[in-house]
Amino acid sequence: MAAEDVVDLLARTAEPGLMAMPSGRFFGWVIGGTLPAALASDWLVSAWDQNAGLRYATPAMAAIEESAGAWLLDLLGLPAACDVGFVTGATMANFTGLAAGRWRLLADAGWDLDGDGLAGAPRIRCFVGRERHETVDLALRYLGLGRPTVVDADDQGRMIPAALEAALAEGSGPALVCLQAGNLHSGAFDPFPETISIARKHGAWVHIDGAFGLWAAAVPELRSLTRGYEGADSWGTDAHKTLNVPYDCGVAIVRDALALRSAMGLHTSYLIQDPEGPGDPFEKVPELSRRARGVPVWAALKSLGREGVAGQVRGLAAAASNIAAGLAGLDGAEVLNDVGYTQVCVAFGDDDTTRAVTARIIADGKVWMSGSRWRDRDVLRVSVSNWQTAGEEVDTAVAAVASALAAVRGS
Ligand SMILES: *Cc1c(COP(=O)(O)O)cnc(C)c1O
Repeated sequence: MAAEDVVDLLARTAEPGLMAMPSGRFFGWVIGGTLPAALASDWLVSAWDQNAGLRYATPAMAAIEESAGAWLLDLLGLPAACDVGFVTGATMANFTGLAAGRWRLLADAGWDLDGDGLAGAPRIRCFVGRERHETVDLALRYLGLGRPTVVDADDQGRMIPAALEAALAEGSGPALVCLQAGNLHSGAFDPFPETISIARKHGAWVHIDGAFGLWAAAVPELRSLTRGYEGADSWGTDAHKTLNVPYDCGVAIVRDALALRSAMGLHTSYLIQDPEGPGDPFEKVPELSRRARGVPVWAALKSLGREGVAGQVRGLAAAASNIAAGLAGLDGAEVLNDVGYTQVCVAFGDDDTTRAVTARIIADGKVWMSGSRWRDRDVLRVSVSNWQTAGEEVDTAVAAVASALAAVRGS
């Protein structure tokens, strides 16, 4: 087939099976839209077709991604000396940070992970909050670290520091503590100063899953949410959520460059020669060959600027709080979480009604919101993650829920 016919066929055939994820009226899961500069730069990345793993081969891609990485560290208030790797999403960002942690913990315990593998190694005790994202468990599984110890959380899903202390004190040996910035249901953040200082006391590696929450650090008014989080060892986030670049783009940030490059690199001898050097992009991510997915991050940051990023994230949180206020005003609706960031969980009396309202919203098609279960209840989850969601979309969202609720009541 001719190329243009192939593209035309694809566009026509896929259309009925596409979901309007780039829309400002899409509130499902935690799914961002795409900023124009990010979208166009992603097309450039495809057209350039650079294999971005090696600095020598593609110096432009390495330079752009390094700029993007340095800007991110500055924007998020993380140490400038951290290594930044551009991965496919937060799952792999968590995997990357935790892999660096595994390497460091075992190296410090005198175990040669690269040479001898995991069998017979000192057991690494892994601790996660009760409401961590399941992809943390997945990353631990990829790493052969097994099922983590679950630490209790409060009513917003925040890890309870005393519970972490008790769990860590129960045993000894290498420990990995995985905290969370941004709970999928409540938007809540773990108490970092307390949990990190407890983890430190036990010599643990601390990783923070901040798939969408890390971005709160870019907003002066929201910065209290991430207070103390810069004391961790590694952080994982997504660019394809809150920043609004196209799929797939996540960011792994690791303080201990030697641990990261030892876990992910192919040339450990090079590190010994030049431990201060910038390294090759492939040493910071699981892949060798990959697209230059950091370029759309650069473009998004360049187009928004520092104030623009803060404005975007602030806008998402404001829209969430306005939607929550609108929903709380509906007779029979109950907002279940403290809305301090971008997530809203609402229930409509019993589970059957909540499920019926959710189904009705989707059938009506004015907005898209997904259901979930939280604190033993069915909930309608509203996640505000699209840069275009503002005044009008907020009103549309509340009206869509109101109308679905009325329809369910009337039936
Ligand atoms: C979305 C999300 C993940 C997984 O990110 P992917 O980009 O889907 O790999 C992990 N943790 C949290 C808190 C998330 O919201």
